[in-house]
Amino acid sequence: MPRPPAPLSAATTLATAGRDRETFEFVNPPIVRGSTVLHASVADMKARIAARNAGADEPITYGIYGGPTHQAFYDALNALEGGHRSWALPSGLTACVIAIQAFVKSGDHVLVPDSVYWPVRRYCRDTLARFGVTTTFYDPTIGAGIEALFTPTTRVLWLEAPGSHTFEMQDVPLLAQIARAKGAISAIDNTWATPLYFQPLKHGVDISVHAATKYIGGHSDLLMGTVTSNERAWPPLREALHNYGLTTSPDDCALALRGLRSMGVRLAQHRANADALIAWFQQQPEVARVLYPALPEDPGHALWQRDFSGACGLFGVALKKGVAEAALHALIDGLQLFGRGYSWGGFESLLIQSFPERTVTPPIHDGLLFRVHAGLEDPADLIADLELGFARLRAVR
Ligand SMILES: *Cc1c(COP(=O)(O)O)cnc(C)c1O
Repeated sequence: MPRPPAPLSAATTLATAGRDRETFEFVNPPIVRGSTVLHASVADMKARIAARNAGADEPITYGIYGGPTHQAFYDALNALEGGHRSWALPSGLTACVIAIQAFVKSGDHVLVPDSVYWPVRRYCRDTLARFGVTTTFYDPTIGAGIEALFTPTTRVLWLEAPGSHTFEMQDVPLLAQIARAKGAISAIDNTWATPLYFQPLKHGVDISVHAATKYIGGHSDLLMGTVTSNERAWPPLREALHNYGLTTSPDDCALALRGLRSMGVRLAQHRANADALIAWFQQQPEVARVLYPALPEDPGHALWQRDFSGACGLFGVALKKGVAEAALHALIDGLQLFGRGYSWGGFESLLIQSFPERTVTPPIHDGLLFRVHAGLEDPADLIADLELGFARLRAVR
């Protein structure tokens, strides 16, 4: 597809990226299912492997390494994130785990924020530990203090901003710069911001990870993770991806690519609906505060404003101390439009209680917490559902 000269705006990139390799006249890349790839000759087989080993783009040699549908999706991610190479994995969790695993060996050490997506904590605690890799959890708002936590064997600084369920922002450029000075790799779970609202590689981070399950898929019908790497981190990351045989179906890549096309307009509406819900929550006497870095009063607002270009529809609500757990359950259990379910980023609204685990920092709040995903329903209908919910909550008190 012929292209006007760069730079393109993010919205245009969402509509055009990954369409350079088209060999057919359809708008979208073909969904090419396949394991075996036929080569013209032994020399051709050797040449493709040699090109890969010399650092060329992943050649099409065998289905496990991806085909044209994968490449179109990877091209789009690279364009959005400013990445060297991208890869899709079976889940967001696999993407997080492999971005750590690729850089450690027995005796090594990793740094992980106390606000991390919980299954990553479990992986560090149970699996990494079994392989002799130690983890130090750190205060996500530690800033320059992170320097003192590096040891001679620290290989990975893991980041996540904002934090899962608690929404602390991190000074990503500063942390990435310190990791680099210490000879470690920095990698970030960038799921909340999506590739549209934050480009970590442009701020010095080596690897950006997404649960594409969330806004990239956008319809609660896809499980996928992605890694996007700069040039320096790619060789070890590629080795891990190849050696663990991590692959995804072309059908899933086509769904993810289709999700990207509408992600910008969906996110704008998720944000608008989140704003409407947040304004309503802030008027409720039982609400202590809303956790959402886009709010001017949020402790992470300055960092969010400096580094991010938008906010999604996911936020937390902290209830005042004294609200009984049974009252919160009465609120949640009777909701009609908000689903009670894991994950987020689909078209539908969700609301679940939060139980953030902390091992090195105090709990962020001394009352109950819940997490809201503002979907694409009419916010007036959502607020009517919440009004009934808060009436149930008050009835229990
Ligand atoms: C959901 C989520 C993941 C994991 O994604 P799955 O595809 O569900 O494995 C990772 N990180 C964050 C921040 C998430 O919210």
